[in-house]
Amino acid sequence: MTNFTRLQEDLNKYAVARNVPVWVGRKKVIADRMVKTACPHNCYDTCGVRAYIKDEKVIKVEGDPDHPITRGHLCVKGYANVQKINSPDRVKYPLIRVGERGEGKFRRASWDEALDLIVEKLKNVRSQYGGESLVEYCYSGNREHMAKTVSGRFLNLFGATKLVGSFCLLSGAAGSFHTVGEQHTMSPEVWCEKTDMIFLVGRNPSFTNPHIYPFLYKAMERGAKLVVVDPYVTAVASKADLHLQPRPGSDVVLALGMMNYIISNDLHNKEFIANYTHGFDELWEEVKKMPVEKAAEHTGIEVEKIIQAAKWYATLNTQTECGYGHQRYSNGHQAQRAFACLAAICGHIGKETGNYNFIDQMGFPTLPGFAKAGKVTNPEGADIPQTRMINIATFASGVLASQKTDVPVKACISFRGGLVSQQPEVAYTLEALRQLELFVVIEQFMTDDTDYADVVLPGCHYLEQYGLHPSYWHHYLQVLVPVCKPYHEAVPDIEIWAELGRRMGWEEYFPKETTGLDFVKALIEDDCDVMQAVSPNGPMRLPENWCPKVPYQDLKFTTPSGKVELYSNSMEERGKKFPGDFKPVPWHLEPAESPLSTPELFKKYPITLISQHPAFRTHSQYYNLPWIREIEGPPKVFINKKDAERIGVKEGDKVRIYNDRGELLEIFAKPTIRVKSGTAELSSGMWVKLGANVNVLASRTIGGPRDVLDGIMTEYHPLLDGNTTAYFNTLVQIEKM
Ligand code: SF4
Repeated sequence: MTNFTRLQEDLNKYAVARNVPVWVGRKKVIADRMVKTACPHNCYDTCGVRAYIKDEKVIKVEGDPDHPITRGHLCVKGYANVQKINSPDRVKYPLIRVGERGEGKFRRASWDEALDLIVEKLKNVRSQYGGESLVEYCYSGNREHMAKTVSGRFLNLFGATKLVGSFCLLSGAAGSFHTVGEQHTMSPEVWCEKTDMIFLVGRNPSFTNPHIYPFLYKAMERGAKLVVVDPYVTAVASKADLHLQPRPGSDVVLALGMMNYIISNDLHNKEFIANYTHGFDELWEEVKKMPVEKAAEHTGIEVEKIIQAAKWYATLNTQTECGYGHQRYSNGHQAQRAFACLAAICGHIGKETGNYNFIDQMGFPTLPGFAKAGKVTNPEGADIPQTRMINIATFASGVLASQKTDVPVKACISFRGGLVSQQPEVAYTLEALRQLELFVVIEQFMTDDTDYADVVLPGCHYLEQYGLHPSYWHHYLQVLVPVCKPYHEAVPDIEIWAELGRRMGWEEYFPKETTGLDFVKALIEDDCDVMQAVSPNGPMRLPENWCPKVPYQDLKFTTPSGKVELYSNSMEERGKKFPGDFKPVPWHLEPAESPLSTPELFKKYPITLISQHPAFRTHSQYYNLPWIREIEGPPKVFINKKDAERIGVKEGDKVRIYNDRGELLEIFAKPTIRVKSGTAELSSGMWVKLGANVNVLASRTIGGPRDVLDGIMTEYHPLLDGNTTAYFNTLVQIEKM
């Protein structure tokens, strides 16, 4: 086997304790060591984790009680990692395809054979078509950033097509950035003590942010109110003083209606507006078109509820906590802008009693902060060509469009993202994959993606590799370290990319002796002593200059005007350069597929299908684990009781869900009052080959100000242009089977 660097390291140096007695089920076991790391599975919490190792196997994981936010608890999927890492179904060694694509037939190969094959094919496509014939596919299955910067170094040296954009949050990030500039969040430790109201928008914390609950409850025990905006009756909505349940895609109307009531009733903060905002008059011109009655009719929320929410919002010290649900539509950037403007006209920004939270950009090393991806991706002295880009929100379109250019995309290396299961409209994604001459998938299990691969490489579980994963919600960092040697023949992602680089002839940029920790250190700014966040140390509070305790307290904003831009000058400027919806005041543009924008389609497909993040999985991850299958049960669609009655289905009946893009069969119906009539919910991430993947049906439309056209771009700014796949712009029909 290839002599990868990690085999030479003594991992005992990370032990917090040795010979530790620990309960594993009903047995007390003496673990060889306990090591601290962090969970990188892309939820807000980024939990501190303790892993117990015996005979180089992980026997238990638990929450790190030293972590000030996650305080010793994990979620179900967090605990399930002990089953995941030890699963007998893991990809144990490299595999080379022997059947047709999609058949899932492979033979065992050695690392040398697999890597030789990949490098030979990469060299071939590069000499035949050019460097841009390669693209990576990578997202947040393991949201750790280090490996993405090492892959970025390889891809830059190769001259590959760059992958930009996001599925999930950049349209909102763009809306937010155009309004307040740099993105910071106020830690829940602060607001839980001071705020009078929490306004929670588009976030289902039970599934994606469970550690917010102690802070929410602490605030509520003091008497703080909770108002939740969500089209679905989530667990947190059921605890709220007020739940606003908008028709999917109408969140911006709700925000405009609330602002209309607040301004019309003189409840806005005139001093804050005069001193710290720009464009109030222009905003009012738009807001006055949306009186509360009209907003109520459009959103389906009762007038009284909108008025109550507006009154509370304006008159109480309010903490605004935004999630990502409201940006899964083509107007998501405007929705986020509208909520930011709502906070600003009430003066709820920059105060410990109530602030405006969307994301903390310290959680994104590609953005300015304490970590800078460019330090690793662009090594000094390297000749890095400018290359075109493909937007991940429209990945398949980009690959297909490239086939008509001089440099068609012919090779793809995929890791940390379910390409087939997470891209919208699965049939279209498969059409794009058929164009490839080389599809390499680095994976832990045989997923929807591996079935279409030419080569499958055994990837590491997060507990087997280094990583840098700052939270985008709180301010504590625990560097990921390998708690044990990789199982079977698995190899850390960093080392796979480095070894590919060496085999391409770039030894100087991928020195054999460089460890993952070296790459982590190289990425961090000097004022941040990252070793304080490496086991046995950690977690570490990030420096105050990067993560202020109370963001925006100086009321200086990194926008063109230096103020909160109710009228966005940067939107206006960007709109002169690129097509899209850069309207500088927030307004409502109906989702690209909806009862109002596509009435003819709506006659055929009268139900809007939304897909929540699953409770017990990170999208498609964990779906194959016995513990998770047992808890989650079979795939089910939540459908309003009236709709269920109309189509004649009752609890437990099997239904067909379909539209012009595809169909799902044998999904169990769950009649409920959790969704309003006309809306249904089917959890995201269930596997295509197991018959329940919602993206078989999902629309390929996108959200965000910039129109990405065919998906290929030559210039892109994540915060000025930000796009998101508009998964919830999806109409379907449901019928009994
Ligand atoms: S998925 Fe989120 S809540 Fe669950 S263990 Fe990981 S970081 Fe914690």
